[in-house]
Amino acid sequence: MELTGGQLIGNTLAKAGSRTFTGFNPATGEALSTIFHEATGAEIDRAVELADQAFQQYRKVRGAEKAAFLETIAEEILGLGAVLIETASLETALPEARITGERGRTVGQLRLFAGMLRDGKWENDTTDPAQPDRQPLPKPALRQVQIPIGPVAVFGASNFPLAVSVAGGDTVSALAAGCPVVFKAHPAHPATCELVGRALLRAAAKTGMPDGVFSMVHGASHEVGMQLVQHPLIKAVGFTGSFRGGKALFDLAVRRPEPIPVYAEMGSTNPVFFLPGALQKNAAALAQAFANSVTQGTGQFCTNPGIFVALNSDKSFVGQVAEHLNSISVGAMLTSGIRDAFLNGIAHLKTQEGISSLTHTEDVAPTLLITTTAHAIDNPGVTEEVFGPSTIGIMADNKASVLAFAKSLQGHLTATIHGTAEDFAEYRELIDILTLKVGRLVFNGFPTGVEVSPAMVHGGPFPATTDARSTSVGTTAIYRFTRPFCFQDLPGGLEGEKW
Ligand code: NAP
Repeated sequence: MELTGGQLIGNTLAKAGSRTFTGFNPATGEALSTIFHEATGAEIDRAVELADQAFQQYRKVRGAEKAAFLETIAEEILGLGAVLIETASLETALPEARITGERGRTVGQLRLFAGMLRDGKWENDTTDPAQPDRQPLPKPALRQVQIPIGPVAVFGASNFPLAVSVAGGDTVSALAAGCPVVFKAHPAHPATCELVGRALLRAAAKTGMPDGVFSMVHGASHEVGMQLVQHPLIKAVGFTGSFRGGKALFDLAVRRPEPIPVYAEMGSTNPVFFLPGALQKNAAALAQAFANSVTQGTGQFCTNPGIFVALNSDKSFVGQVAEHLNSISVGAMLTSGIRDAFLNGIAHLKTQEGISSLTHTEDVAPTLLITTTAHAIDNPGVTEEVFGPSTIGIMADNKASVLAFAKSLQGHLTATIHGTAEDFAEYRELIDILTLKVGRLVFNGFPTGVEVSPAMVHGGPFPATTDARSTSVGTTAIYRFTRPFCFQDLPGGLEGEKW
C-alpha cells in the first residue's frame, strides 16, 4: 500500500507543510523512506473545524450505528494483514508476535465498546417521575442522560503503536461517546499511524459517518500538538505518554480562555511489595517472575515494576533477582530519545550516594539498583520513572519502614503486594495506604499486562495521571468524553429522540 505522508483531514489528504521528517528503524538507526509532512497551522484549523461540523451530526448517531462503525474499524484493521504487522514492527523494533498480540487487543477493544453501545446501559438513562401533587411544591419530571462533549484531541504513546495509538483506547472511547477525534500521529511510528488512520476513514465511509469524524495530523515538533490543544473548538484531550509531555499539555489546556479537561495517562513506577511470608515460601519463583516482568518488552511499559520493597532480612531474594536480570538480554529501545533518557536516568541514579548497582552492564540492559527506605523517603526522585528495563530495590529494616515508605509514595498506576494470608493480616495497613496511592492494586501477581474489560482501572492519582477520577482502559473510559445532562419536564413526543 502506497503511503502518502500527509495529513488526513477527514477524507481529504493535505501536505502543504514544508517541514518534513521520516520514521526510523530503531534496531539499525536507519531512516525509513517515506517522507512525512508536518501539519501547518491552517491544516490543523481545518481538521478541527471539520470535526466540529461533523460533531453536529455525529452526536446524534445512535448506539447501534456507532457500534457498526467501531466493528468495521476492527475489520478494516484486520484487513490490512501482514503489512500492518511488518510496518509497526519495523518502526518500533517490537517483535512481530508482540505486534500481532497488540492488534488482537486493539480489535478486541473496538468490539468490546461496540457491545457496550448496543447494550446501551452505559448511558445511565435515569428518570425521576414527576409528582405534580407533591406539597408544598410539585416535583418536576427529571431525566438524566450522558451527552458527548465535542471534538477530542488524542495523543498516543510510542510503546503501543496499535493499542494506544490511532485506533487505541482514547480514540475508541471518544468515538463511542459521540465525539469526533483529531489524532496527533506519533512521530516514532508515522507509517503505522497512516495505515490505521486510513483504515478508520474507510470504516467511517462504509458506515455512513460524517466527513471529519476522524482526522489525523503529523508533527515531529511539539507545535502541532500544542496548537491542537489550544484550538477553541477542541473540548477535551486524551493523552498517553511521558510525564513531561502530559503535564505540558495539561498546563496549556488549563491556561486556555476556556479551560478543557486533559486526561493524561503518564508514567509510573508501580511499586511491588514482597512481604516476608511470600518470600519464605516462594523466593526463587518470585525472583524469576519479577525479573521477567521488569524486562518484558525491554521494560517499555507504563506498568513496568520500576521499584520493589523487601525487608533487609530477605536480601538473598534481591541477589536472586540480580542473577536473573544479569542473564536476560533485551531488544532495542523504541527511539534514540528513549534510549538516551534510560541511560542518563540510570547514570544519574548511580551517582547518588546511598544507591548501589547489582547488575553489571553500562549499555541498555536489565538493571537492578538498591537503596534504603530512608534514602528513598528523603530523595523522592528515586521513585520517578526511568522508562526501560530497570528496577530499584528499596530495602526496609522492618514493617514500620515499609509503611513509612508506602506513605511517602506519590500516585502510581498500580501497586502490587506479594504475601501469604498471614502477611496480609499483619500488613493490613499497607493495603489501606496503597489504596489511596494507585488506580489498581494487584495481589500475588505482576502489574505488566492490562486486561481490557469493564472493571479495569488504568489510571491513578497525580503524577500517574492528571485526573484520578477516570480510566483510560476499559469501557468506563467513555465517561471522560461525555457529561451528565438533565431534561426537566421534557415534552411528550420527544422522549425517543437522540440528543
Ligand atoms: P511522549 O514523548 O510524551 O509522546 C507522546 C505524544 O505526546 C507524542 O505525540 C508527542 O509528540 C507528544 N508530546 C510530548 N511532549 C509534548 C509537548 N511538550 N507538547 C506537545 N506534544 C508533546 O511519550 P512516549 O515516549 O511516546 O511514550 C513513553 C511514555 O509513555 C513513558 O513514560 C510511558 O510510561 C508512558 N506511557 C503511559 C501509559 C499509560 O497508560 N499511563 C501507556 C503507555 C506509555 P512529539 O514526539 O512530537 O513530541
